[in-house]
Amino acid sequence: MLDTQIFSVFPQQGKPLHELALSLYEEQRRTWKMLSEGIAALDSVQLKTVQCHSYRTVIQFNPKRIVSTGAKVDAQSIAERKCFLCTENLPAEQQGILVDEKFLILCNPMPIFKHHFTISNVRHIPQSIEDHVSSLLQFAKELSPEFSVFYNGPKCGASAPDHMHFQASPKGLIPIEHELHNMERKYFYNKKNGVEWYSLKDLDRSVLVLEGENAQKLEAVFHSVVAAARKILHVDDEPLLNVICFFEDQKWKIIIIFRSKHRPDVYFKEGEEKILISPASVDIGGLIVTPMEKDFLRADAALIENIFREVSLTKQHVESIIENI
Ligand SMILES: [Zn+2]
Repeated sequence: MLDTQIFSVFPQQGKPLHELALSLYEEQRRTWKMLSEGIAALDSVQLKTVQCHSYRTVIQFNPKRIVSTGAKVDAQSIAERKCFLCTENLPAEQQGILVDEKFLILCNPMPIFKHHFTISNVRHIPQSIEDHVSSLLQFAKELSPEFSVFYNGPKCGASAPDHMHFQASPKGLIPIEHELHNMERKYFYNKKNGVEWYSLKDLDRSVLVLEGENAQKLEAVFHSVVAAARKILHVDDEPLLNVICFFEDQKWKIIIIFRSKHRPDVYFKEGEEKILISPASVDIGGLIVTPMEKDFLRADAALIENIFREVSLTKQHVESIIENI
């Protein structure tokens, strides 16, 4: 990494990370044309609310997201392209906040949100949540109260599955974050060693929430969730999952959404039948992004509900995972 790529380092006396992130954003917006154009393009993004049977989703028509939604993420395509998160490949104007010499916080030049950060490992190592749960919790806390941190599994939404990274979004803009405050959603509630966990019902998605005040204990439960999912699903690799984490009321809240697959069948159709929706954390969290106006216009409750059900793990599987924690 070049010194010129470092905007600032963290920890730094008297400077909270969320404030440094906002300073980085303002500076990069001024000095990096690709970012200022990406942010300006957000002004023409269209949004609509779609009320599904018992939950609300937001659809975003965002033409710039074609790069991510249309990304080829098969092993061969990934091996053949230059990794866009490796520091030697970053655009000359791009700078980041170096955190603990391990991660670099960068502004996303093709944002879904006004403030949209990528938190990229300084090394080119594969996307894997298990080795980085403590970093997930650290970022969720240090970036609170402004931001939530999310993770896309290598086979369900990460456009750089070969390079470990998180992302950060303004807290509360992913609709599912609000479902945690709805007591009627909670079921399969359990509590052990100061860590609470429960599922959320009637969302057409398979969700497990972990809450706790102690990072080590929370981390231990997270690992046993992944181990239980491996056992139930008979897989050696990381089970397909998206994770959204935030810190509020002195507690971490981790939303784990289990997946059966990355892209719905309609994604692979030809011609008019094709729908360019490629669910990652933000989308499966209820803010569904499409780069195509025709798909934005035709996205209705039935379409969204079907896509959610199709790409989510079954309720039975998730209940078995919870029973095996
Ligand atoms: Zn890389």
